[in-house]
Amino acid sequence: MTAHPGCKICTMLDAAAPEDVVLAGEHWGVVAMQETPGILMAFTRDHDAGIGTVSDQAAAAFGPMIKTLSAGLVATGDFEKTSVIYLGDNAIHTHFMLVGRKAGDAPIFDNSPLMARFADKDRDRTRALAARLRDALSPSGTTL
Ligand SMILES: [Zn+2]
Repeated sequence: MTAHPGCKICTMLDAAAPEDVVLAGEHWGVVAMQETPGILMAFTRDHDAGIGTVSDQAAAAFGPMIKTLSAGLVATGDFEKTSVIYLGDNAIHTHFMLVGRKAGDAPIFDNSPLMARFADKDRDRTRALAARLRDALSPSGTTL
C-alpha cells in the first residue's frame, strides 16, 4: 500500500480516532463513521479505478471481511441485518458503507438515483450482459 499525501482516504486511518478504527489491514481499512453506531466504511488501502480493478488480495479478503463485520453488527443485538452500499463515483479508492439495519428502518434505496435506472428497461441487452458475465465467471472457477 502506498499512502498518497493529501488523499482523504489514504490518511483516514491516521486521521480517525484510534477507537474508531476497526481494521487497518494490508488491503482494507475499516472505520466507524461519524460516531454513528452501526455505520462502517471499508476502503481499499491502495488507489484503484473501482471494484473491478482492486488487487486479487483485496478481492479475496472482501467476502470474509464483510461477512465478519456484518455478523458482528448483528451479533450486538442492535441490528437485524446489514446493507452494503458501494461508493465509487468520486474517489480513487474502492469503498463501501456497511449499514446496520433495524426492523422498521426505511429502505435505503427508495427514491435514489439507482432506482431511477430501473425505468430504462432493455430485456435483451440485460440478458446479453448477464450471459457475458456468466462467461467471465466461468474461467475463475466461480459457479452459479
Ligand atoms: Zn488515497
